[in-house]
Amino acid sequence: MILVDDHCHLMHTAYKDVDKVISNAQKAGVKAIICSGINPPTNREALEIAKKHPIVRASLGIYPVDALGLEQDVEGGLTVHKGAIDLDKEFEFIKQNKEKIAAVGEVGLDYHWVKDRELQKKERENFARIIEFVEKLKKPMIVHTRKAEQDCIDMLTSSKLKNVVLHCFEGRKSLIKKAADAGFIFSVPTSIARSQHFQVLVEMANINQITTETDGPYLSPDGSFPNMPENVKIVIEKIAQIKKFEPEEVANNVWLNFQRIYG
Ligand SMILES: [Zn+2]
Repeated sequence: MILVDDHCHLMHTAYKDVDKVISNAQKAGVKAIICSGINPPTNREALEIAKKHPIVRASLGIYPVDALGLEQDVEGGLTVHKGAIDLDKEFEFIKQNKEKIAAVGEVGLDYHWVKDRELQKKERENFARIIEFVEKLKKPMIVHTRKAEQDCIDMLTSSKLKNVVLHCFEGRKSLIKKAADAGFIFSVPTSIARSQHFQVLVEMANINQITTETDGPYLSPDGSFPNMPENVKIVIEKIAQIKKFEPEEVANNVWLNFQRIYG
């Protein structure tokens, strides 16, 4: 079975032997992994990992919380950026690496970690600048949003972006519908095994608008840590069960979606 993990933080220290993690994934049928950066140091780490491993591609991100200089990686394990991120500087870096990367992300809006209204406004200002940058760059955008889904979908649907991937989208049904109508892609995490929400999302979404992810080392199917790329097989099986397709058929479809989105 052909598998893809379009959102994994391979630079996380939970992955003590990255070479082994990647070769195990490959043995299990994983054909592509997108290694997701969240700030300047992890973006550089993502590029390094991608350079070494043909099945890995980098996506370079500016996580909304990091952008403000309010790093909240409470469990640790991802390199922290000190202070607010200079967006223009990081845009320049992303531009320089444009040909090497699969996407820009993760970027987005997060009101879970950022509760202050003024700071939320600043997040929206940053996100507006990022959207404008990606419109010109013409790369897919991988979006993180938590407790800010309404604002996020509003900003995305009024943008000119064509290729939007909503990673681990937790918005309510009306927002799932709005995103689906706009042609956005849902990247469904392995935690679908224990999440009613993602099962409903899969029911609502068209099979041509779905990809699979681990968000590794987080969001494992059974709550264990760290999550491994080959676990995306569980997402495929769950989608097959919900949509009454053969797992093989779902896997092939997701592979086609992946190629269409990321080229
Ligand atoms: Zn992530």
